[in-house]
Amino acid sequence: MSAPGGYRVQAEPALLMGLIEACRATIAANSDHLCGLDRAIGDGDHGTNMRRGCEAVSAEEASVSLLPLPDALEKIGLTLVMNIGGAAGPLYGTLLMEMGRELRALDDKQDFSSVLKQAIDAVARRGRSHAGDKTLLDVLYPVQDALAHRVPLTDIARQAALSAELTAAMKAMRGRASYLGDRSIGHVDPGASSCALLTAAICRYLEEYRPA
Ligand code: ADP
Ligand code: MG
Repeated sequence: MSAPGGYRVQAEPALLMGLIEACRATIAANSDHLCGLDRAIGDGDHGTNMRRGCEAVSAEEASVSLLPLPDALEKIGLTLVMNIGGAAGPLYGTLLMEMGRELRALDDKQDFSSVLKQAIDAVARRGRSHAGDKTLLDVLYPVQDALAHRVPLTDIARQAALSAELTAAMKAMRGRASYLGDRSIGHVDPGASSCALLTAAICRYLEEYRPA
């Protein structure tokens, strides 16, 4: 079934399950790396936090994948809030929950990039943060912009990785890293890095996905 904007509101269960597994796998493979980034400018738990969240979502993937997409995204968001913990839990959770709400309210003048924009703005409000503060927003906004300009998926993944790298030059203004002030400069933000990894995994999966 299609929404007026052309997006399938009911995703194929296999597609959603595959995306959940792709996200879980990339975070599991990079958990130590993310903890290392967080040790440099935080408390060293970002990889563990993200891994716990992704595993909790994986545990319920079969039931979640049968829900209409807005409900599935809201449920995933709630699971992330409850299981990632720390600062990142409520932020990733807000992103998914708001995407679900916005997708439900999608009208024929909007597309998915506008849904994502609303959801990212909600994350920014929740974190009282802005682009340039050295957070996951510094990956989310460029990804959203690329999507709005219909940039191909491989280039979106590359843009996300580059955006995460660019956070190294920024001074952290929010979260634990902000306690370091200028000493946060020179380190990649862990949340930006997890966001780039997830973006790349999602893009890769969508490119390769062929409906049965
Ligand atoms: P904690 O800092 O509680 O240990 P994590 O280590 O899991 O939580 O997550 C840290 C990441 O969360 C940061 O790298 C940053 O990207 C993101 N973050 C922290 N605070 C904020 C905020 N106020 N706004 C946006 N992102 C934030
Ligand atoms: Mg941490």
